[in-house]
Amino acid sequence: MNVLDSELVVGSLRRQGYQLVAEPVDADVILFNTCSVREHAEEKIYSALGRLTGHKKHHPEIVIGVIGCMAQKDQEIVRKRAPHVDIVCGTGQLARIPELVEEVKRSRVPQYALSLDRMEANRHEVEASFESYDPPRDAAMRPTPFQAFVRIQIGCDKFCTYCVVPSTRGPEQSRSPEHIVAESRILAAEGCKEITLLGQTVNSYEFVQGDGRRTRLSDLLERLSTINGIERIKFITNFPKDMTDDLLDAVRDLDKVCKYLHVPVQSGCNDVLKRMKRMYTVELYRDMLARCQERVPAAVISSDFIVGFCGESEESFQKSCDLVREAKFKNSFIFKYSPRKGTKADDLYPDDIPEEVKKRRNNDLLAIQNTNCLADHRSRIGQRVTVLVEGYSKLGLRQPASGPRQLTGRSMTDHIVVFDGSPRLVGQTIQVLIREASSFTLYGDVETSEVDGLALAIPEHVPNAAEESPRRIGLPLL
Ligand code: SAM
Ligand code: SF4
Repeated sequence: MNVLDSELVVGSLRRQGYQLVAEPVDADVILFNTCSVREHAEEKIYSALGRLTGHKKHHPEIVIGVIGCMAQKDQEIVRKRAPHVDIVCGTGQLARIPELVEEVKRSRVPQYALSLDRMEANRHEVEASFESYDPPRDAAMRPTPFQAFVRIQIGCDKFCTYCVVPSTRGPEQSRSPEHIVAESRILAAEGCKEITLLGQTVNSYEFVQGDGRRTRLSDLLERLSTINGIERIKFITNFPKDMTDDLLDAVRDLDKVCKYLHVPVQSGCNDVLKRMKRMYTVELYRDMLARCQERVPAAVISSDFIVGFCGESEESFQKSCDLVREAKFKNSFIFKYSPRKGTKADDLYPDDIPEEVKKRRNNDLLAIQNTNCLADHRSRIGQRVTVLVEGYSKLGLRQPASGPRQLTGRSMTDHIVVFDGSPRLVGQTIQVLIREASSFTLYGDVETSEVDGLALAIPEHVPNAAEESPRRIGLPLL
């Protein structure tokens, strides 16, 4: 969500005549788009702001802004800890950034643009103060021009006890399907092949028209699938309780929808899930996994875990380990619990698991997950997978331009696939035969591929790759 917000804010400033520079010290305007989910992310921003104190003293004309979740949550603290900041702008007010920048330049008075706190007004007023920010897109601002995030929902109403998102991003609101389809059509016309639909609990997406007609995520996927040029549709992140059969059937039946479901569980222990207020039990989650596998046999599932949540005993933690062993997730994102001011968990439960224990549990769970990843990846050796080529791999970026280069992309099940090939494959959908596997990556060889309508046999090594004109590969590679 933050990557998308940054793309849109930079795009709107470019339309005002600004351009990106490589170093903050060369900029007229420096914006920090912030995350509040864990404390560490916030501390990094304060350190970065601190490093700019001297620069701002010598160049008082520059504009420094803090935007996003931290701005919404901590405007007073930002003001105190970084008095040289000129703009504090929350997630629901990003459309105002160009105007705020101009106002600071004109008046030299700090500008604050924040949405209402949930307790400050009625739901309708709070919703209105969190605007979905969806201005025209700018392909040059995306990591690759052929992949784009599309927001379909803002905010969250689940109120998990550890989480700041319901206050920093406001009430859950689904965007109209007409707007989503129109934006996706424009993206497709600009050459975008893959869209990833974004929402905090994307599978609870529901838009009710004035006449009472409802559009659910399954309906939306069907409509988006008809757009020519869009080859792949993903959606993140799902809430376990809202994984309905109509959605699973849409994933199974629509060829363009990736067979990949990210459904965070957070813990394998019912007591912990109850304290987190996740509103499901491990049994319900296991049933949901079984339903996913039964209805969409080709699907792979990934998850999120928080380790060291308040009161998580060794026994509770072992239940998370058991779930990871058994569920064979494609991957798991594992986080150490970080208490957040203003959340229910911070008010109700002591943060009683020592940092060392959180670290150890994080490593232990990761080790189990990595073992599963390796087994899953090895089972794919010999398979042929369809890959959308994203760009050079980390190794490919370091390889000399005169020789073969290593490229990377993702399969329809979101597996990272690495192979040698011509840079002109970037942005193309190709077939790769998997020959090797590590815990993180599948390695393969490019097979015959359709490139711009021509069937080409791509040799394993392209001797003169550098002499071919590469497609422009936007900003940093994923
Ligand atoms: N809406 C998504 C869901 O409920 O699955 C997740 C959104 S949250 C921004 C991404 C992940 O951050 C969560 O799944 C959770 O694992 C983690 N997270 C959220 N709050 C956290 C906290 N206070 N400490 C550690 N991890 C946290
Ligand atoms: Fe946070 Fe829970 Fe909402 Fe996800 S569902 S954003 S974890 S409150």
